[in-house]
Amino acid sequence: MRLSQPLMEELVKEVAGDDVLALLRLILGKSNVSEFKIAEKLNITVNQVRNMLYRLNEHNLVAFTRKKDKEKGWYIYFWTFDTFNARLLIIERKQKKIAELKRMINEENTTGMYVCPSRCIRVNAQQALDLEYKCTTCNTLLKEEDSRQLVEKTKNYIEKLRAELNEALAAEEERLAEAKPAKKKGAKEEQQKKPVKKIAKKKPVPKKNSKHKPKHKSKKSKH
Ligand SMILES: [Zn+2]
Repeated sequence: MRLSQPLMEELVKEVAGDDVLALLRLILGKSNVSEFKIAEKLNITVNQVRNMLYRLNEHNLVAFTRKKDKEKGWYIYFWTFDTFNARLLIIERKQKKIAELKRMINEENTTGMYVCPSRCIRVNAQQALDLEYKCTTCNTLLKEEDSRQLVEKTKNYIEKLRAELNEALAAEEERLAEAKPAKKKGAKEEQQKKPVKKIAKKKPVPKKNSKHKPKHKSKKSKH
């Protein structure tokens, strides 16, 4: 099962901006797409394309190879969307969001929230107590809010996030299962050993049998 395109698009929109969606649609499912081709198809400059790709690259969502154009002497970059990293990032972000919303719901449920009737501020019970139930802006008495509707809405949103998270997790599990037989043995990474400098031992202090003369500790108090 592949991760659905809407989830990828949502991620890209969130981390790189709306304008990158058209680019994503061009390179998704392909590999090594020339940045000149992208520019041509989107009818924008190569620099604009690179700017978008750099934004994706900041989140490790693209990989590239480059080839030298023999005639012109410059490098052409070819880009591939990294669905693997995208999946991991989606999982991470969804989990974080769910945890955040759960905390919020707990706060609403256990303490209730207080609002100014003019909607200047919205605070929890402890904060309301600290403020003596008065709005910091207009000094009106705060009212306890009926937060059931909000909690209901948030719970539904969490369900939606959970479904999306499960989709991403299932895709990831499938990838792991596929990747297992291909595991290579003996592909040890060569670790370069840094030459360890021997720390010079303390010089042996020549023994002197002379009596230790106490130094005068003159503490001058400066003013
Ligand atoms: Zn107010």
